[in-house]
Formats: sequence, structure tokens, C-alpha cells
Amino acid sequence: MAASPAIFSDLIGQPGAARFLTAVISQNRSSHAYLFLGPAGVGKNAAARRLAAALCCEQNGCGQCLTCRKARRGAHPDIQVIAPAGSIIMVDQIRELNRALSLRPSESRARVFIFPDAGAFNAASANAFLKSLEEPPSFVCFILLATSEDRLLATLVSRCQPVRFGPVPAPVIEAHLAENCEVRPAEAQAFARIAGGNLDLAVRLCRDQDLARRRRRYIQIGENLVKGAREGGAAQIVAEIAAAAREAAQKATLEFTHPAVGTEHVPEGFCTISKKRLEEDARRRANAAARQEIDFALGVLQSWFRDMMVMAAGAGQAVLNRDFELELEDRALPSRLGSYQQAFQAIGAARGKLGYNIDVELALQAMVFDLQEVL
Ligand SMILES: [Zn+2]
Repeated sequence: MAASPAIFSDLIGQPGAARFLTAVISQNRSSHAYLFLGPAGVGKNAAARRLAAALCCEQNGCGQCLTCRKARRGAHPDIQVIAPAGSIIMVDQIRELNRALSLRPSESRARVFIFPDAGAFNAASANAFLKSLEEPPSFVCFILLATSEDRLLATLVSRCQPVRFGPVPAPVIEAHLAENCEVRPAEAQAFARIAGGNLDLAVRLCRDQDLARRRRRYIQIGENLVKGAREGGAAQIVAEIAAAAREAAQKATLEFTHPAVGTEHVPEGFCTISKKRLEEDARRRANAAARQEIDFALGVLQSWFRDMMVMAAGAGQAVLNRDFELELEDRALPSRLGSYQQAFQAIGAARGKLGYNIDVELALQAMVFDLQEVL
């Protein structure tokens, strides 16, 4: 039996996946294709890098050697990331991959291809990929990442070994934040609880001052709604959230670099893309960022009303926003429990609609009116 890999020991909050991958590598039973399934921000990317390292490292993922270190930093030439070109994995990308597949590893014992968003395959690229996925050269391994099987073509799913990742438990996130981020204990507890299992989001709340500021601001909006201070009314609240969403969209546009035009992961000539396609992709990326910001705003607001319910029901130890415990204690009235519940539901309904193609500002406006009605 091969040596047990050390490299999975520090995967955070995924004991099942870590155990499984450790067994696969130490028993030398590696499959040629894996499908990592689980919500965003729970460590699938980190695990994929580690599995890639374990497959390339001469000692099964010692975590120390040059191969392991290069792999973890995303700088190993035998580990390639196939990111969507914009929002889809294009058939040209896969054809190029198919052509290059038989090349031997350049400095290790394996070649690993990581697909960070397997949901981005379309029918054409998936079909072009099937044969390679089924019968790759013995030294090749594919790792596909996706949030859910539902968004994937069944033909891809059936050819991969699934590995499941769950939400990271709040106490695990809290301990990680306390150890790795500069954060007050009440904040660490709050961020761990409101992140809903998304470790990446909790870490960003610690490190991204602007994100933390926006969270406080959205909580304040919730407080003001409860106090009845309309702060210029619904229009202003909607305008404020919409402005934050626009800012997120602008930022995403500025940061948008097309994976197919010369990033380190995709070799030159991988595929050529028209200017129109690039613009479409940039727009799609901007829209996604705007919706994500609105969902963040509504998520914070919803957590606030959830906490108001919990506090009004006398279960203060269960609040999510621990760093606002005193404010919650101050504001929550047992007699208003029903209103808080209605507010919570109204926000939930608005969040649910965000996934559809609707006028977001109009939906926000309707939600704020509903809130003012019930509070
Ligand atoms: Zn190593």
C-alpha cells in the first residue's frame, strides 16, 4: 500500500471528502475522473488542487515537495484549469484539449485537468469531451466541479466518480476565522453563522472591509424599517441596494478578463472569440455580480428579521448576528413576533424571484412596500 497522503489533512470542514480522497490515493485506487459536488465556497477548489497534487507528487501528496507546493499555488505545468470561456466551456476548448491529451506529463507522473465550473459545458462541448472522459491516457485525470448534478448533462455525471462536499459547519468556520483572520470573537461567531456554510464568504467578511461595511449598512436598513423610520421611504432603500448592485457589476466588468485570451491557464490559440461574444460574456458576468450583491443584501436583511423573531421568542442564544445582539435585544418585541415573521417571508419571496428574469428594482420596491406594510 502506498504512503498515506498528508495533503488532505487540512481540508476545512469536509471530513467525508478528505477521508474518501485519502483512501483513494493511499490505496492506489484512483479513478480517471472525479465530480466534486457541493455548494459554493465550501472548499471544492482547494480539494481539487490537493487531489491534483497527490496524483502528481511522487509521494502521493506529501504536501512539502516542490510538486505539492507548485500544485497548491496553481503553478504546476501538469495541472491545467479549464475555465469557461466567458460563461460556457466551448467546443473549441475541448477539441484543443483532446488533441493535446496524449502528451506525456512534463515534470511529474500525471496530468490533471480541473474544470472549476462543469455546469458550463454545453451540449456541443460535452459531446466532444465524452470519449476523452471515458478513456483518457492512463496518466490523465479529470476533476469536474459543480454545485449540483441537476445542472449537468447526465452523460458527464455517469462517467465520473462523485465526491460530495457539504456546507461547512458554523463552529468549524468560527474556529478557522479566529485562527486565521483578525476579527473580534462576536464577529467571528456572527460571520460563521450568517455565511450559511460558505467558508469563503465568511473569510471575505473578515478581510474585505467594504463587504463588512455593506453588511452593517443592510442591517441598519432592517433596523430602520423596524423602528418605522422610513429614511426617505422605500425609494431610498431600493436606490441604495440598486446602487450597490451597479457598483458590483462595474467591478466585475473591470475584473473581467477572458480566459481564452491569454491567461496562464489556457495556452495560446486555444480558441478565438469574437468581440461580440466577449461583450456578451462581460455583460453576463456583470449581471451575475449585480444579482449576487442584491442576494447578499437580502440575505443580510433576512438574517436580521430571523434574529428579531428568535429574540422575540426568547431564544436569544440562537441569533446569527451575534455582534448586534444588544441592538436585537433592544428592538425585538414579543408582541410583534408575527410581523417579523411576515417580514422574513417577504424577503425570502423576493430572494426567490431573483433567479428569474425579472425587473429587479421593481421586485425590491414591492418587497420594501410589503415590509413597511407588515412592520
Ligand atoms: Zn509532494
